[in-house]
Amino acid sequence: MFNIILFGPPGSGKGTQSEKLIAQYGFKHISTGDLLRSEIAGKTELGLKAKSYMDQGQLVPDAVVIGMVDNVIANNPDVYGFLFDGFPRTKAQAEALDELLLTHEEKINLMLALDVPEEELIARMMNRAKTSGRTDDADPEIQKKRINVYKNETLAVASYYNQFGKVTTINGQGSIDEIFNALRAEIDGHSG
Ligand code: AMP
Repeated sequence: MFNIILFGPPGSGKGTQSEKLIAQYGFKHISTGDLLRSEIAGKTELGLKAKSYMDQGQLVPDAVVIGMVDNVIANNPDVYGFLFDGFPRTKAQAEALDELLLTHEEKINLMLALDVPEEELIARMMNRAKTSGRTDDADPEIQKKRINVYKNETLAVASYYNQFGKVTTINGQGSIDEIFNALRAEIDGHSG
């Protein structure tokens, strides 16, 4: 398998680029945000628990998120690879992911980190809120909170993978296709 993490702050385009990468390569998409939103829509116990954290722009506890990812990995043994989107978001999640993958004799091959300035992130979240119905995108206070959580807790994930030389930073500004082509060039260069 070829397993990648698409990394970046909220609003950096991970979801948009994930869709294109999946269509191109056949990755199995693991977006913990999407998984959590579908738990909320299904009114499950897990969804109810997660909702209060998400509405406030806080991270859902590691154990909850890791358990969901564990399920998806275990149920998809024959995919081209996994594309992790919005996960891992803490160093503890990164360490847990590496352990999980190891039990399947797999690893993270590459982390692609989208670089987008803060003003642009806010503009994109505002824009996305118009169609997504996501309350966490529409409220400026929650947007700021999510960006701060990213800086304080999630950036450490990039340092974690950087120590293994697995991180490549991609300019996340430009047209969707320009960014997609830059991501593709990196994947093609690493997957041989
Ligand atoms: P996203 O769709 O990735 O922007 O995630 C939306 C919200 O879901 C986040 O603000 C968190 O509250 C929660 N969430 C998504 N992924 C994770 C994760 N890996 N760890 C903790 N919370 C998460």
